[in-house]
Amino acid sequence: MRREPSHSGPTDPSVFGEPHQRAEPNRGDPSEQRAAQILGRERARPATTYSDAQNVSDEPDIFPRGRLLIDRDWSCSACGYNLRGLEVGHPCPECGHLELYRPPPASARSYGTWLDERVAATPASGVWWVVAGCLPWGGVAALVAAVVGVGMVPMNVAARLPMVLLYEAPAEELLKIALVAFVIDVRPYLFRRAWPIYLSAALSALTFALAQNAAFFALLAPSAGLALTLYRWLAIPAVQIACSLVVAAALVRVWQQCLSERRPPRVTAALGGLLLAAALHAAYYGIELSLEKMFGPWR
Ligand SMILES: [Zn+2]
Repeated sequence: MRREPSHSGPTDPSVFGEPHQRAEPNRGDPSEQRAAQILGRERARPATTYSDAQNVSDEPDIFPRGRLLIDRDWSCSACGYNLRGLEVGHPCPECGHLELYRPPPASARSYGTWLDERVAATPASGVWWVVAGCLPWGGVAALVAAVVGVGMVPMNVAARLPMVLLYEAPAEELLKIALVAFVIDVRPYLFRRAWPIYLSAALSALTFALAQNAAFFALLAPSAGLALTLYRWLAIPAVQIACSLVVAAALVRVWQQCLSERRPPRVTAALGGLLLAAALHAAYYGIELSLEKMFGPWR
């Protein structure tokens, strides 16, 4: 039996319940209003916003055509070897990796042109916002580390050791450096030299260590003796800063490649530095906890 369109409504599961079949005018789905607002905002932005940062010239060239010579410094994504002078699609002579990213044509708008314009439009003093932001960031990172970490959880040394080595040390290294890595990923032009990257990493680590120590003495060891107090205020900041500088060195190489080759930063290439810092951090924790096991708890 044929159903009449006049019986249809928003709850009608039949074909006559479809918006274009209903008797009443279609006022649109309320959930689409937000999408319309976002589209309106995006259309109000200048066209260059969309022409640069994600450009077809920055996409991997999986079917290189013709014999395109790499005419500028261009690192292999796998090993960092400079592929200048080779043709696109030629395996890396050092590691055999087939580099699919090739330099964009000089005339094309690309990540490089976006980067040049941002460098020209941004005052060199902009870096001080990043350096200053690293001070509160260290405290925030320490808070997050305390919430997700095991430092405040009572457990014996045998249970604590694997947790600290495999989880706490890598997590702390990642949290301390997160702001610097984020800025290098999305605003690499804010850094003009390498030393503010090291300074930012060191300040994040310093406030991280100070917040950690403050929490330690307030919550875990309120009646600590002079030896423990001196030891913690000297050793913990030194270890935290030293480990963060190891990651910063790896991030500096990522940032240098981004600016010199005018291509998107590959923050993942700093993973080796992060793992090395986590290993050093874990080694320190391991020695500290082993001493505690041998000579009894300090707390
Ligand atoms: Zn290579």
